[in-house]
Amino acid sequence: MESTAKEVKGRESELHVDSGSSVNGGVGDFYGEDSASVEHSVTPWTLSVASGYTLLRDPRHNKGLAFSEKERDIHYLRGLLPPVVVDQNLQEKKLMKNIRQYQFPLQKYMALTELQERNERLFYKLLIDNVEELLPIVYTPTVGEACQKYGSIFRRPQGLFISLKEKGKILEVLKNWPEKNIQVVVVTDGERILGLGDLGCQGMGIPVGKLSLYTALGGVRPSACLPVTIDVGTNNEKLLNDEFYIGLKQKRVTGKEYSDLLHEFLTAVKQNYGEKVLIQFEDFANHNAFELLAKYKKTHLVFNDDIQGTASVVLAGILAAVKSMGSSLADHTFLFHGAGEAGTGIAELIALYMSKQMNASMEESHKKIWLVDSKGLIVNSRMDSLQQFKKPWAHEHEPLNNLFDAIKTIKPTVLIGSSGVGRSFTREVIEAMSSINERPLIMALSNPTPQSECTAEEAYLSEAYTWSQGRAIFTSGSPFAPVEYGGNVFIPAQANNAYIFSGFGLGLVISGAIRVHDDMLLAASEALAGQVKEEDYKKGKIYPPFSVIREISARIAANVANKAYELGLGTRLPRPRDMVKCAESSMYSPTYRPYR
Ligand code: NAD
Repeated sequence: MESTAKEVKGRESELHVDSGSSVNGGVGDFYGEDSASVEHSVTPWTLSVASGYTLLRDPRHNKGLAFSEKERDIHYLRGLLPPVVVDQNLQEKKLMKNIRQYQFPLQKYMALTELQERNERLFYKLLIDNVEELLPIVYTPTVGEACQKYGSIFRRPQGLFISLKEKGKILEVLKNWPEKNIQVVVVTDGERILGLGDLGCQGMGIPVGKLSLYTALGGVRPSACLPVTIDVGTNNEKLLNDEFYIGLKQKRVTGKEYSDLLHEFLTAVKQNYGEKVLIQFEDFANHNAFELLAKYKKTHLVFNDDIQGTASVVLAGILAAVKSMGSSLADHTFLFHGAGEAGTGIAELIALYMSKQMNASMEESHKKIWLVDSKGLIVNSRMDSLQQFKKPWAHEHEPLNNLFDAIKTIKPTVLIGSSGVGRSFTREVIEAMSSINERPLIMALSNPTPQSECTAEEAYLSEAYTWSQGRAIFTSGSPFAPVEYGGNVFIPAQANNAYIFSGFGLGLVISGAIRVHDDMLLAASEALAGQVKEEDYKKGKIYPPFSVIREISARIAANVANKAYELGLGTRLPRPRDMVKCAESSMYSPTYRPYR
């Protein structure tokens, strides 16, 4: 908090007296650190009130050249800044111009990180006002490259690093974090960063980036966000042999040692920040991701974006597409290519929605959903060798070992790619879907772009439309440019998790929710699908434009919060009457505030 100059002066003189009595006395000793030799111990005094030089170096309060004449007088800034006073809009214009001049996305990433460390409000203003342009820099795909090179581009630590060295002391470590009122924690153990594999401690770029989006897209205050990386070692040989690697140089621990550390972490977070703190798991490897979610969902407010966020965003796209076809979800049959975190998470949520819609059992709904993994169609005869999370999808059917045969036999109306295998939706696959369906829904979700099932480039994408003769409703995990076919321009909408998670998190925060319930995910999907307008459908889009993400987030937050109260999981009382207004008004604004 800022305080008046008089208070600052008062504090300084107190400090002089203190330091004087404990060391040699006198004004000189207050600044004694510079003159002390290496043998002398000195006290690392800092002023807790931001003013003058300190104010300029405090990213939360710094405004750079936007400090007014009056503020410069009151806050001892005269001479510390050049004479010109500019407003925040001009600062933004200049920075965007600079950023656009960089040739490589990683340079832009570094410039934005540096801005975040220098002037937080300006960073968020840039991000909010230029969200479509900067999202791929702050998050995927550039954040992936940043994580790969984290060791060498690392300058100032961001977030909290909790390694095996902190075992038994995690509560104390949490207390070292400067903010006390945390609402959202995003945590990774770095084992499966995007599609890039084990990046160990360098995975920190992910929680940092994700939480920047929590603020920019969902309006959660930056001071309420805590990025965490749990370092249990890495199996990445390249990192282990890299002299600049910033993490523990040992193989990953597993089993009890791993789960004990995670348990200590989850217990400490709840103890320190309370029942209502949201803990979002991010980029954990398959086995741990499912296990952690299942283990802690009954005792903690936990959410896994890779599983639940993906499911909710994809279900939203399906609901919108189904509406545009004039059908209902129960009319459709789903075939997944890929049965991992994303695939089974989506399948589970579709089944839940369907069973609620049809008033049918989950077993009934499961029958409409089929999955193919690397060994072929998931069928009963494979039951013994299937991983636990795949078992519910094993149907009574003869084994089929490829996607094409599965399409021909099962005749799905919706084809969902979640295998990470690029170009697996070949021409014959798309044509088979188009021969069965008037309007096949094709979701090529695998990332990054070269892994996309239909295409690595625009040209292939246009083929996808060509193969279906413009009849396919198409969405992808990676962004693609618009495609022209038969005089129509199709805009392939991106099924981006960023549509959901920040609004979802805001909904949990404003309702004071203490647990995540699957019905809240359905509520988020419905809110997002409800934002798709007729004009979007005409362009072939099944998601709304990302440029209005804050409006979208407010509606998602409101639906999620209402559901939390309905389920008896919302604890913040009284329950707001107009939930959308409540969500909007609780969103962080990056505009500078005048300082007294
Ligand atoms: P995962 O590793 O958990 O699952 C991959 C699955 O694909 C496994 O079931 C595996 O058996 C299967 N598979 C591998 N090779 C195969 C093959 N040749 N044929 C058939 N199946 C095969 O990964 P995940 O987290 O589920 O992610 C999968 C993909 O989805 C990734 O590319 C990821 O980027 C993407 N994804 C997209 C979104 C989105 O669009 N919003 C969200 C999350 C994940």
